[in-house]
Amino acid sequence: MSADVVIAGAGPNGLMLACELSLAGVRPIVLERLPARTAENRANGLVGQVVRMLDRRGLYGRLGGGSEPPRPTPAFVFGALPLDLSALDDNPLYLLQTPQLRIEQVLEERAVELGVEIRRGHELTGLTQDAEEVVADVAGPDGPYRLRARYLVGADGGRSVTRKLTGIGFPGVTRNSTVSRTASVAVPPELVDPATGGLNVPGYGLVPPFMHHRTEHGLFVFAPFPGRSTLVTTMEWEPGAAEDDGLPPLTLEELGESVRRVLGADLPLGPATGPGPHLMRRLAGGNTRLADRFRDGRVLLAGDAAHVHSAIGGPGLNLGLQDTVNLGWKLAAEIRGWAPPGLLDGYEAERRPAAERVVMHTQAQSALIAPGEEVTALRRLFTELLGDRNVVRHIAGTMAGADVRYDMGAGDVHPLVGRWAPDLSLDTGDGTGPVRLAELTADARPLLLDLTGNASLTGEAAGWDDRVKAVTARLLGAAPGGPGGPDGSRRGSGGPGDPDGDGGSGGDGGSGEITALLLRPDCYVAWASSSPRPDSAERAALRAALARWFGAP
Ligand SMILES: Cc1cc2nc3c(=O)[nH]c(=O)nc-3n(C[C@H](O)[C@H](O)[C@H](O)COP(=O)(O)OP(=O)(O)OC[C@H]3O[C@@H](n4cnc5c(N)ncnc54)[C@H](O)[C@@H]3O)c2cc1C
Repeated sequence: MSADVVIAGAGPNGLMLACELSLAGVRPIVLERLPARTAENRANGLVGQVVRMLDRRGLYGRLGGGSEPPRPTPAFVFGALPLDLSALDDNPLYLLQTPQLRIEQVLEERAVELGVEIRRGHELTGLTQDAEEVVADVAGPDGPYRLRARYLVGADGGRSVTRKLTGIGFPGVTRNSTVSRTASVAVPPELVDPATGGLNVPGYGLVPPFMHHRTEHGLFVFAPFPGRSTLVTTMEWEPGAAEDDGLPPLTLEELGESVRRVLGADLPLGPATGPGPHLMRRLAGGNTRLADRFRDGRVLLAGDAAHVHSAIGGPGLNLGLQDTVNLGWKLAAEIRGWAPPGLLDGYEAERRPAAERVVMHTQAQSALIAPGEEVTALRRLFTELLGDRNVVRHIAGTMAGADVRYDMGAGDVHPLVGRWAPDLSLDTGDGTGPVRLAELTADARPLLLDLTGNASLTGEAAGWDDRVKAVTARLLGAAPGGPGGPDGSRRGSGGPGDPDGDGGSGGDGGSGEITALLLRPDCYVAWASSSPRPDSAERAALRAALARWFGAP
């Protein structure tokens, strides 16, 4: 074997998967067809659970989040409607405004630190597989060659070659009805409202910053990113708009004309100054598609290779990076020989519903920003609905991907089981002061957290001590930044994204009433207890959960 796993694509998802596999002790090789990192930025930031996930791997600060733990954002936008999240005591929506270029740089640096081999200028061109291995055909700078591996993961983007080579279908819709134009620009400073940071467009009025602003003629966005060039975006509905290959590159004049059509007013636009790269992007049409399966034998798909959708609300990396964190430990367990039957298939079982929800809410948002009187009426109704805190919480949980509750099997009776583990502040007794749960999960190992005060549970995991890290600690409370109070009273209205109907939208149920937790490496709770002295039935359930997720003792 040349490697345990070949990953096609060194985009954010391929790089994150490489990090996860390395942490779990397997050896990936990443193939990237581009000889150097692209200079064109796509995502402007990370939205949702992924921010907390990256914190749990020690990457939040490196990505520009600062030294404090992540905190939920007080405001966001859904389908160009403002979402006031400040009144939610369990606000699940986190935000990190870091450009994708920086995210890729940080993930690449982390992968290299972990010893990952990244081969730039090496393109996956073919593959064959049998029961034992995958053979990848690669076109490298010195000519074609072959790589043999136990598994191959296609993280090679929406036009995935891996997906095509395996014959996995990509059903969905292509819409040829919109054109969006985005450019890095300079706007006259006197037009920027000092109080709100919004833009006073002469003859139109104030447009708030970072808000998708809908008119009857299209969409306008003014995004004055701190420390980066300001972006102005328009979106217009132009029936028949198709791929814009062959058109001359976008100019400021073309963007200015589009602004005039959308707002009915002129906005003076100058070329961006300050550090680049500066963006000039025209995108026509869009796809919403979901792979008909995420696995074909020894080949798996992750990220955009498995699903594409509108970028509205920025859900792409939230979905994709969580795919890779879900997949990494399961694939590593398979390779290291301890995976219980069906573990790897659980990747698709758990992540397909998450992708389906992203398809649902991006399509819903696309409908809400379209022109037309009926849409205006629908928006009025939505505005009324958003006056209800439970609706706001539900939408925020959906956008965050925090409404996930994975099926953990027979033992998921504790309200935390299946959910994202809450942010906890702990005293591990080593005299170093409070420790955040996130500091215990950076190594991506399964974790048994014994908070009973008498270390009575750690012995139960003795048979798994090569896989499961057991930590005894005292619970100090919810860690700063995490939503929800220590009373665990975080229940909303439930709904279709809330499979158990208990109304939890924040993905974790607060930190109260916890005396023990078993976490999978992706930080979802596999078993939990509220009892200071778990009885024999609870101990048996713990051992069953250990075996279900981490194999035979
Ligand atoms: C305009 C726009 C704005 C967006 N804004 C946001 C946002 O604000 N927030 C957000 O979360 N998401 C956003 N997204 C989505 C986000 O950019 C994607 O979800 C993300 O890039 C997907 O990452 P990936 O690693 O799956 O694929 P990609 O980033 O596409 O990376 C795939 C990599 O595979 C390589 N490759 C392809 N074929 C091969 C091959 N045969 N062999 C080897 N290598 C290959 C490619 O060169 C590429 O480097 C936006 C997308 C767009 C288009």
